[in-house]
Amino acid sequence: MMKKILAFAMVFCLLAPMGMIAQAGPLEDAKAQQKKLQNEKKALEQEKKKVSQNLLNNKQVRDSIIAELEAKGYEKEKIEEKIKEIEDAIRTLDQAIQERQEEYDRQLRLFQQRLVVLYVRSRIGADASELAQSEDMDELFRRLHTMQLISKADQDLMDSIMRKKQELDELKALREQEEQNARDQLEQSLKELQELEVSRSKAEERIQADEETLKKIARQEDQLEKEDKELGELIRKLSSSGKYIGGTMQWPLPGYTHISSYFGNRLHPILKVYRFHSGIDISAPQGTYIHAAASGKVIWSGWRSGGGGNTVIIDHGGGIATLYLHIMNGGLLVKEGQVVAAGDVIAKVGSTGLSTGPHLHFTVKVNGESVDPLKYVSPK
Ligand SMILES: [Zn+2]
Repeated sequence: MMKKILAFAMVFCLLAPMGMIAQAGPLEDAKAQQKKLQNEKKALEQEKKKVSQNLLNNKQVRDSIIAELEAKGYEKEKIEEKIKEIEDAIRTLDQAIQERQEEYDRQLRLFQQRLVVLYVRSRIGADASELAQSEDMDELFRRLHTMQLISKADQDLMDSIMRKKQELDELKALREQEEQNARDQLEQSLKELQELEVSRSKAEERIQADEETLKKIARQEDQLEKEDKELGELIRKLSSSGKYIGGTMQWPLPGYTHISSYFGNRLHPILKVYRFHSGIDISAPQGTYIHAAASGKVIWSGWRSGGGGNTVIIDHGGGIATLYLHIMNGGLLVKEGQVVAAGDVIAKVGSTGLSTGPHLHFTVKVNGESVDPLKYVSPK
């Protein structure tokens, strides 16, 4: 803000004592434009600094995410390895469980048979069928116990078998728990990895956007630099305007009266934003001769990078100048410094610069300010 105020004050101080405000002409106009450009350049420089800092920050964020991703990836690999080990162990365990199960079943069958043969058939034939129907060890044991048919040796054998069964069940439960733990860990790790990937791609997007912005700023800077140079040249070439020598202004494109865009604010056909339109657009085919609207001296005949394309500027004295934009390549028919009379052919209609099709953009400047050309000329 301070800079802006200072810049403004400086322009004012420089111009005021020399009494140039009252008689501002194309020279002052160009100087003002250059000042404006320089301010734009400063603003761009600020923007560039800001975006560069953003870019740096975003890159740091991305790098830390990548480091975290690497650590998590390593962690995930470790978990996967562990799961593989657990799975191997589980397979071995399953095999052992299977073998023990078979042994247990076999022992149980043997025991049942032995009980039935040794005790039941010889002593309590009536209960034999009932005992043989016992579905598992617990039930069989209970029935035998109730009948008080069991010996100490048999009971020890029974206990041993029961313990084996309990061990088996514990092993199975342990196995399941271990497997579940490993799976949970892996799932958590995968979730974290996924979240990190999302953060990373977001950071990458921000980086890309910053880089795009920086490129755009660089292009704008180039453009401003070019315009600045051109303006400097224009300022150098401009001489004192003196008195108005133009005479009555005339229509620059005789026979072409269609105005496709008027002076003032309008929606720009290419930029799609509301912009001040500094002149009128007159439709005419490519190559149509453009005539000087008034007598004067050509102070510019060449390319203007502000969007005007090939441009002719005629200084008519008294702070009045006319501008002719978008002239076709090879269509500049006058040279800088050349004196032209009103109605002289000066150029050919084209579509160079920021333009959608062949037309003449015609501007009238009075004391450095664009005014509505229709106040000076009428379609004819
Ligand atoms: Zn225009």
